Order: sequence, then C-alpha cells, then structure tokens
Amino acid sequence: MQLIMLGPPGAGKGTQAELLEKKLKVCKLSTGDMLRAAVKAGTEIGKQADAVMKAGQLVSDDIMIRLIRERIANIDCANGFILDGFPRTIAQAEALDVMLASMKKPLSLVIELTVNDEILVERIAGRFSCAKCGAGYHDTFKPTKAAGICDVCGSKEFTRRKDDTRETVKSRLEAYHAQTAPLLPYYQAKGILRSVDGMAEIGDVTLEINKVLESTSK
Ligand code: AMP
Repeated sequence: MQLIMLGPPGAGKGTQAELLEKKLKVCKLSTGDMLRAAVKAGTEIGKQADAVMKAGQLVSDDIMIRLIRERIANIDCANGFILDGFPRTIAQAEALDVMLASMKKPLSLVIELTVNDEILVERIAGRFSCAKCGAGYHDTFKPTKAAGICDVCGSKEFTRRKDDTRETVKSRLEAYHAQTAPLLPYYQAKGILRSVDGMAEIGDVTLEINKVLESTSK
C-alpha cells in the first residue's frame, strides 16, 4: 500500500503515520525527520536546510525529490510506504508520480487530516519527543504514561523541535496554504483523496483512518 498523509503542520500526520506503519507493516518516510537528521549530522543538505527550516519555509524541491528518490526504492519499502511531509508542492507531487510509475507502484490513497489553524499553534507548541527512540508526545494531548519516562523505550531524555515556536508556526502555516494546499485538488482530481477530521482525539482519528482504509480495500 502506498499512502500519503496530507495536512498542515500539527495536524497529527506523524502520529497517525507512526501507528499506520506498525499496522500495515510498511515503511514511514518523514521528510521532516530526514532533514532534522541531516542537520544533526551536519551533512551538506543539512547545512542548506537548517536556516530554511528555522524560518518555517520550504526546502528546495530539488533537494527534497533527491532525498525521497534515494529512500523510496529501499528494500524496507518493498511492502509499500507512508509519506509524512512529502509531497509539499505540485512539483514534488509530479516528480513522485514519475518515480512511482517507473516502480509500478501507484498511489493507493491520500489521507488529508483537516484542522483549524487556531488550534494548530497550541498543538505544535506542546509537542516533544523521546531523544532516544523518537516516540512523539504532547504536554496536554499525549503525555507519557509515567512522568518523564518514555513509554516505548524508558529513556528519560526528551527533545523539542527548534521550529515548533509560535513565530515559526505562522510561517509554516503560510507555506502550507500557499504551496501545499493546491495538492488537495490535484489528488481529488485523481480520485484518491479522502479527508478525515484531524481535530478529534488521536484514537478517534485512527479509527476514522482505519474505516477509510477498509472501505477502499473492498
Ligand atoms: P515537518 O517535520 O514535516 O513539519 O517538516 C519540518 C520542516 O522541514 C518544514 O517546515 C520544511 O522546512 C522542511 N520540509 C519537510 N518536508 C519538506 C518538503 N517535502 N518540502 C520542502 N520542505 C520540507
């Protein structure tokens, strides 16, 4: 199965992609995670992406398409994949279509998580993740079960993203509306877009996504 999670920053794409990855036994490709790893490792791409990400703008299509092309053909994606954060522009979506056509792996579904802009700032400002295994949490909506201890790996170290500040969120939302939202009619026209209310509780969003997956596999 080849899936795309679409929606503004903070809509819950990463959280749902993490759950779907386990359920569907496919690989999750998060371009945001890949770029943060590149920044941390100090690679050439990381150096170019760092300032752009801090400003809440989009990294160039060339870099992003190269990053995804290298990963998507890997053996761990043989069963399919979930894309979280890619494509983000029409140029990226068109490049993805070409890649998938050559791999004979057409897109199965694009799941849009719909959320009000106002609630996104609160959602994003409370996000943190385990520094060791990367499991994602939220101060209010998804705290760790035991205070200060990761549910998944038991680590006591957590991190917050540098771009999860109120100011940067504003730019990220503007980039979403200007450059990424045009992907909605693009995939709608292909008949593979399904929208799910991303404002519901995490578990309810998962249930809705599962319903969409069941109805499309029939
Ligand atoms: P995310 O973790 O998906 O919110 O991405 C964090 C930041 O990484 C974004 O604000 C962009 O600066 C950059 N980024 C991630 N994915 C892409 C993409 N597909 N195209 C351009 N920039 C991206």
